[in-house]
Amino acid sequence: MTIEDLLNTVKQHNPQADLELIRRAFDFAAKAHEGRQRATGEPYIIHPLATAKTLAEMGLDTTIIVAGLLHDVPEDTPATLEEVKKNFGAEVASIIAGITKLGKIKYRGVARYLENLRKMFLAFAKDLRIVLVKFADRLHNLETLDALPEKKRHRIALESLEIYAPIAARLGMGEMRGRIEDASFKYVLPEEYEWVKRLESEAYQQREEVLKKINMQTQKELEAAGIEVLKIQSRTKHLYSLYKKLLLHNRDVSQVHDILAVRVIVVDIADCYAALGVVHKLWRPLKGRIKDYISQPKPNGYQSLHTTVFALEGLIVEFQIRTERMHEDAEYGIAAHWHYHEEGSKIPNRYVAWVKELAALRKEMLAEMKLQDIESLKIDVFQNRIFVLTPKGDVIDLPENATPIDFAYSIHTAIGNKCIGARVNDQLVSLETSLKNGDMVEILIDKNRKGPSPDWLKFAHTRLARSSIKANAQSSLASWLFRKKTPATK
Ligand code: MN
Repeated sequence: MTIEDLLNTVKQHNPQADLELIRRAFDFAAKAHEGRQRATGEPYIIHPLATAKTLAEMGLDTTIIVAGLLHDVPEDTPATLEEVKKNFGAEVASIIAGITKLGKIKYRGVARYLENLRKMFLAFAKDLRIVLVKFADRLHNLETLDALPEKKRHRIALESLEIYAPIAARLGMGEMRGRIEDASFKYVLPEEYEWVKRLESEAYQQREEVLKKINMQTQKELEAAGIEVLKIQSRTKHLYSLYKKLLLHNRDVSQVHDILAVRVIVVDIADCYAALGVVHKLWRPLKGRIKDYISQPKPNGYQSLHTTVFALEGLIVEFQIRTERMHEDAEYGIAAHWHYHEEGSKIPNRYVAWVKELAALRKEMLAEMKLQDIESLKIDVFQNRIFVLTPKGDVIDLPENATPIDFAYSIHTAIGNKCIGARVNDQLVSLETSLKNGDMVEILIDKNRKGPSPDWLKFAHTRLARSSIKANAQSSLASWLFRKKTPATK
């Protein structure tokens, strides 16, 4: 990894970037870190270079790449933040100040998780760029974890898997999430990691030749049909995501139909549908496996056409067909949007929705933090999440198996306390019904209702709902006891 590698990556992903400035930042960082080494024994500058490269791959702009190169300078070298500011401006200095602050947090035990989360989100609210640099920094640290003592390795990997990866997922950064998860998986569950890795290599590497032929044949047919193919490639499933899917299917790999997938990137939406037709003419599709996430995006905004087919030699392969923009969105999420925003093009509505959703998440997390209930915080944050809609179309994020009661409290404590029923997709349902992704939920309230029923604790899952029920049911119990007691003592 050299400065030339970095500059090439920058040129490729962001032709407008200021290469001279990036080179100057590199020289500054290289001089500041001179003589210092990483735990791996390599010169320290490798680390800021790798960090900056990850940011460049996301198509981010000069300021962020410069910040990535300089992110460890004030903390680890004689050069100060003031000097960085003098040479590279206030914006770069402010991002680095944020990173330095994040890095200063040292905690023992579980409290670490809590505080880290809080800092991440406070940092996010201030400047998304701080979070992006921090992710890139963490990713390289993870990828070089081998050099650290085992205990430290495990702790950093666990923290990354449980905190960084879910946040990356929430920001729509699929590629970052996958890389963080896979790098952590290896240390957190080494035996499971080896098992999944073997399964994947059996499924994928041994069939590389067939997959190549499938790609070539598909590309030929698409072009013959007049569809311009910007890119076609087999993608390996990220290992941790494959692992989670295997657990859902009793560890039976034959039940996982997207272990082999071919990604086709075309010019526009019309071509996506046309390409789907060509693929189906070429290979027989599996029943019930055609998904149109273009006209009906996933709640997190993901768009693509998916279909699973019997390809050459009876190989079951999933095709994912999308435009370039959809692809960048799926890989880089909010970073991709942020980039477009910087270019001065119109901000997609979904970007606004995303930011709103994150603001809400941050609020929720801050509220949760006051409860000091670290164990339940862990469970809630790291469970799989579902997205449901309010009648107004706002997206509410809840843990899997959440019920209308969880939903009601996530809207407002008063809505929870006054809840008497719920409609899901216009049907009246019982309050213990598990909500599903994409459900539209309406809460029926009775203004005169005194408070929650303690029975709700049987099916309330979020910390927010449970603590509100406990607090409010207790207070009504207390007042009830008080009322009962008063006449007796008179
Ligand atoms: Mn660093």
